[in-house]
Amino acid sequence: MTGDHRDQYYWKAKKDQFRSRAAYKLEFLIDRYGIIKNGQSVLEIGSSPGGWTQVLVERSCHVLSVDIQPMQEIPGVKFLKLNILREDAPERIREAMTDSGIEAFDTVLSDAMSKTSGIKSSDHASSVVIGDAVMKIAVETLRRGGTAVLKQFQGDMTNDFIRRWGQYFRDHKITKPPASRKESSEIYIIFYGFSGNVG
Ligand code: SAM
Repeated sequence: MTGDHRDQYYWKAKKDQFRSRAAYKLEFLIDRYGIIKNGQSVLEIGSSPGGWTQVLVERSCHVLSVDIQPMQEIPGVKFLKLNILREDAPERIREAMTDSGIEAFDTVLSDAMSKTSGIKSSDHASSVVIGDAVMKIAVETLRRGGTAVLKQFQGDMTNDFIRRWGQYFRDHKITKPPASRKESSEIYIIFYGFSGNVG
């Protein structure tokens, strides 16, 4: 890890025994936007190494975590190693839901992101591809009224992305948590009130 990664959130995560500094982004999203209530059912995509999962467990959530990379076990959490870009990803997630006795999720979260290239337009484009896969899963697994929250590198396709998926929801917000690096174009899009219907 390079020196510039060792900011206040890096050291805070070490002290608080979080697996990643990303944990503070989720804490912000929960505290500021109320995206999750204690004890809810949550699908978490892009979970490794598990900082967000730790936050969800602290809040007594019923969690299904998914990542293309392995994740060290967290007691009480079901983990599924899966590439969400696979065509059968929604089906694999449905199977895992059945195994865990979950009918529908209150919230679908995604912090998933492929390795960045440093080229803004291509990082933006790959974040939109991942975002589309996340939202396909979200509209198949959310309960009515549920919430979807996902990371994206902001760019010229962001508005169209929000228009495309926003039609399934009552409202949306865009935010950038303080723990996101200032120089990053990373944003989180929150879709509230899943309607299940287009239009
Ligand atoms: N929220 C995590 C935490 O708090 O520890 C950090 C997530 S990290 C920023 C992004 C994760 O997305 C990585 O673990 C990566 O393996 C995962 N990811 C990227 N592409 C994926 C894909 N196609 N399917 C599933 N997971 C993916």
